[in-house]
Amino acid sequence: MKSEHDKTMPCPCQSGKQYEVCCRPFHLGEKPDTALQLMRSRFAAYALCMPDYIIHTTHPASPQFCHEAKEWAQKIAEFSSHIEFKGLEILGFQESGSFATVTFVAHLMQDQKDVSFTEKSYFEKVKGKWLYRSGQLSQGRVPNLMTTGQLPLLPLAYYGHPINNLQRILRQQ
Ligand SMILES: [Zn+2]
Repeated sequence: MKSEHDKTMPCPCQSGKQYEVCCRPFHLGEKPDTALQLMRSRFAAYALCMPDYIIHTTHPASPQFCHEAKEWAQKIAEFSSHIEFKGLEILGFQESGSFATVTFVAHLMQDQKDVSFTEKSYFEKVKGKWLYRSGQLSQGRVPNLMTTGQLPLLPLAYYGHPINNLQRILRQQ
């Protein structure tokens, strides 16, 4: 996959590093060492509208996985183009063997409205490659999402069919 974005710009994952030395290598095919790196690079891919990267780093058993790759890519692109990616705040990161969780706040704006959300993402390493498995979402900034298991989960404009996705996520738990 090629990236035509300015290499010297600040990385959209908000690391403070240049894109070139942060998430770009992953977007070009390098495997992230940690699930946290994968999570950051997926956030950057959403911000830069790179649906292929999202698709290739999603676990086939993920509730978000869609076999209609074209349609899926279109939905991701739509999401990316309607959202302003304001910031990324990592609240927690745990890795144990082939499993990892990252809890983060995605600071997002849509039509001048704050559509930020907190997500606890689950990752699994398959054949040496970290993949996104699923996510527990809550609207707004919810710093205690990590420790409290039973927060009300609200639908979010995540992939175009928020309610369906949410129900699928809930069914998995
Ligand atoms: Zn980055």
